[in-house]
Amino acid sequence: MSLEEIFATRAGRLKASEIRELLKLLDQPDILSFAGGIPDPALFPAEAFATAFAEALTPAHQAQALQYSVSEGYLPLRRWLADHMGTLGVPCGADNILITSGSQQALDYLGKLFLSPGDTALVAWPTYLGALAAFNAYEPAYDRLHVNTNRAPEDYRTAAEAAGGRVKMAYLSADFANPTGETVDEVGRERLLDLAETLDCAVIEDAAYQALRYDGTPVPPILALEIARKGSIEACRTLYCGSFSKTLSPGLRVGWVVAPQAVIRQLVLMKQAADLHSSTINQIAIHRVAETLFDSHVASLRTTYRSRRDAMLAALARHMPEGVDWTRPEGGMFVWLTLPQGMDGAALLARSLDTVRVAFVPGRAFFADGSGANTLRLSFSCASEEMIEEGMARLGQLLRAG
Ligand code: PMP
Repeated sequence: MSLEEIFATRAGRLKASEIRELLKLLDQPDILSFAGGIPDPALFPAEAFATAFAEALTPAHQAQALQYSVSEGYLPLRRWLADHMGTLGVPCGADNILITSGSQQALDYLGKLFLSPGDTALVAWPTYLGALAAFNAYEPAYDRLHVNTNRAPEDYRTAAEAAGGRVKMAYLSADFANPTGETVDEVGRERLLDLAETLDCAVIEDAAYQALRYDGTPVPPILALEIARKGSIEACRTLYCGSFSKTLSPGLRVGWVVAPQAVIRQLVLMKQAADLHSSTINQIAIHRVAETLFDSHVASLRTTYRSRRDAMLAALARHMPEGVDWTRPEGGMFVWLTLPQGMDGAALLARSLDTVRVAFVPGRAFFADGSGANTLRLSFSCASEEMIEEGMARLGQLLRAG
């Protein structure tokens, strides 16, 4: 008997991510990597964190900072977040907020809360790979969420019934999505709310990149639009997942969910059962740093990332051959390339690593149905402008070679 034979069926749905496997190969110094979707570590507010942690560890504060704490999260941080959400058009209180260990944990809990095996999650094609990984454990079916075109609600319903359940959630990263960099406009967001009303399902708004807008006009969060319709967050079906990972630090693992109190109460029970609470000292440090420099730090991140985004768009225009298309993101970390039909992103990566030594992520893993072979994701967050120019020149050369 091998233990693998008695793993639960859900374990079969968890696959090693193509991206994580690939990232292991990228340590070689001569590779120009546009693969990892991570913040530039040179931009971390390390000094502010050093001060915050030192303060938390003084005799006056250590008993709290190193101790167990409440599952809901550190109250001063939840209050700060309630104010922050207010500035985004989401009036709410600390009781509407749960601190999670990164927004990834929020996706896991929301999957656990809503999805029984066979239920349907609506996701964009392509969508955030980590959301698929989080939901997969709950054995859902996936259907393609259309926000820019109308698809009859009845079609979603029929497909969900055929899969053995009902539509329970629509998941969307509405600002500067991973992997496409694209933003859903207000009309698309309202359309999604209409659809969710008709299907009577939850909307999971993944706002991981929300703060990183470089130009264009901010679009209100889906949750803000729903509160404007209904008058109060307590009547809403949108659950907002935020994160400090792209602004302050991903390593501290601090994210948050904003939801009606009835949903927060249920998520708190899940948090208690899973890990009791997120790291106390990390929440205290994040609160201290957010309170002192969140806005100014984000403003400086925007300036740096904007230049890199601009450098990438300019280099793509210079170097890509006919037939290659790409997105023009207004924020975030990613540009999404569509290659001519018949080309394969994974095969191109293998050739690229062998020859021009440029790394990116082949797009297929981001599609719940395994399509999208002729796509790839480029990240500009960790690359200098010179590296971007050189990398895109090499990639263009490889694509021209056919
Ligand atoms: N959502 C999206 C769209 C992401 O790209 C990521 C991280 N890559 C996450 C959520 C999870 O981030 P974290 O858990 O660090 O908040």
